[in-house]
Amino acid sequence: MPESLIVLKNLSKRFGRKKALNRISMSIRAGEIFGFLGANGAGKTTTIRMLCGLTKPTAGIGTIGGLNIWKDRFRIRSRFGYVPQKFSLYPDLTVSENLRFFAGAYRVPSSKIKDRARRVLSDMDLEQRELERAGRLSGGYKQLLAIACALIHEPTLLFLDEPTAGLDPTHRQAIWDLIYELSQAGTTIFVTTHYMDEAERCTEVGFVDGGRLLAKGTPRDLKEGLKGHLLEVQVEPAMTAMFEFRKLPGIYGADLRSGNLRLQAEDPDVLLHSWQVHWPFPNLRFLGFNWVEPDMEDVFQAYSRGYYKPNGDHPAPAKLVYKI
Ligand code: ATP
Repeated sequence: MPESLIVLKNLSKRFGRKKALNRISMSIRAGEIFGFLGANGAGKTTTIRMLCGLTKPTAGIGTIGGLNIWKDRFRIRSRFGYVPQKFSLYPDLTVSENLRFFAGAYRVPSSKIKDRARRVLSDMDLEQRELERAGRLSGGYKQLLAIACALIHEPTLLFLDEPTAGLDPTHRQAIWDLIYELSQAGTTIFVTTHYMDEAERCTEVGFVDGGRLLAKGTPRDLKEGLKGHLLEVQVEPAMTAMFEFRKLPGIYGADLRSGNLRLQAEDPDVLLHSWQVHWPFPNLRFLGFNWVEPDMEDVFQAYSRGYYKPNGDHPAPAKLVYKI
């Protein structure tokens, strides 16, 4: 089994009285595509910025390849690439001038710059745009150029902070194809996303909420924890039903999916049984139900709604514990 490349022990960050990150402990093995998930403001960017040595941890320790993320930050910097949410390209420089600028900043030997630039241009589908000014590229191509700039020094670890936000499905796919290719070649990827279909593509994911790590595991293990808590019901009218169901004790989430109501419940069996005895909604018509397999959207909803039990500092591929 590959060794841990990233190790965090009680890593914490405060901004004044605000605990942006609260004692996060986890390790990430080399070669993983690690997806870091959480609602807005959960602490994802703060974690990445600490890992990249851009902001000092308030407490705790983090290492990358055995080097301390703060004390050794200048040594580590050459090993990773970082694409922040708002990447600052130089809009008046062309695509290839931007690449050369970043190659210089990362101290790529001048004898190697040409070859590497050609390679990333080809990988990012930017060959035809080499001479265009970065400021005139579409949002998708700007993002591809940002990733190209972060790869110019051939890092073995790549941090991507919401790399596909706002992109069309074709460019999203292009970025994920690239992530797979990099991963195949041995690059470790640390990626944040709000898209749950992307979370499914990660080899491992971590859920952060309010600065705390709630769970970490493979998508399969995390989904397993929700099994038996999910039910899809056909009820008319569906929209009214959704709001009514949300008020019911024992139901922790009700969402519309393709016209059906997807319920997260403590014990759906008990609910179904009670509805056979007494259907509590005279204004709603029950048409049927089916059991459904959890997906990452369900897992995300469950964690972000707080139906979990934080499991100390080392969250397991958690079994969800529903709050009553
Ligand atoms: P998003 O998905 O919206 O990008 P996030 O999970 O990346 O959110 P962070 O940007 O890490 O969240 O923010 C975590 C918390 O820390 C938030 O409450 C945020 O307001 C706060 N925070 C982040 N940076 C600063 C700062 N420089 N000064 C004060 N508070 C900050």
